[in-house]
Amino acid sequence: KAHPFYGSVSFQDVSFGYDPNRQILKQVNFAVEPGQQIALVGPSGSGKSTLASLLLRLYDPTDGGILIDGRDIRSYKLDSLRQQISVVMQDSVLFAVSIRENITYGRLGATDAEVEHAARLANAHDFIMDLPQGYDTVVSERGGTLSGGQRQRIAIARAAIRHSPIVILDEPTTGLDGASEHAVNEALNRLTQGSTTFLISHNLRAVERFDLIFYIEKGEILERGTHPEL
Ligand code: ATP
Ligand code: MG
Repeated sequence: KAHPFYGSVSFQDVSFGYDPNRQILKQVNFAVEPGQQIALVGPSGSGKSTLASLLLRLYDPTDGGILIDGRDIRSYKLDSLRQQISVVMQDSVLFAVSIRENITYGRLGATDAEVEHAARLANAHDFIMDLPQGYDTVVSERGGTLSGGQRQRIAIARAAIRHSPIVILDEPTTGLDGASEHAVNEALNRLTQGSTTFLISHNLRAVERFDLIFYIEKGEILERGTHPEL
């Protein structure tokens, strides 16, 4: 098994375009330490999700390089890289299998105790136990019996069981109502504890607690600092 990441991440003059004639990210530079919590804010279309997708190697930069623990991410095995980066997006997709399998997905051999621990961390255990079949309840891929916030909490449990050193959250509470947002945020705070975290958010209040905020516009980091500084 590959050595787990510590979780330092750096972008070195990273440029990227989906179309070679149109740059989306322009010479992005930053370096973050293991466990640092980074918020990415900026207008729609500025390149925030694109930046996250490069870290997952959904695409490779057209210029520059991305390092994790000082090594170019192209030198890691793709499945090992993705194993160690957990992602929670808006509207998580669940699979049409049991809740237990949704949580253990990609982590074969997880015990029931580990599943329950992850679900408790994610504020999901209580509502799961209220379902007639508990952890064996089969869910549908979208909507169905679970609310949006409950689905997000299953996705957080799926991330939590992997203990990833790096976590990407792409607008994980967008579209949730107040109470549900609170439960999800509490779960996210626990999930990201000790992990290098990139939170993409439109909500400036949600990023107050972050170590560093990057303000991105048209593919460039125009400002960086703590909440009081910006
Ligand atoms: P939002 O806040 O709306 O989520 P964002 O900052 O995450 O926006 P991106 O999704 O990274 O922005 O998009 C940046 C630019 O890249 C946009 O102009 C978008 O249209 C374009 N883009 C995003 N994904 C693709 C894709 N798969 N193929 C082509 N162009 C894309
Ligand atoms: Mg986006």
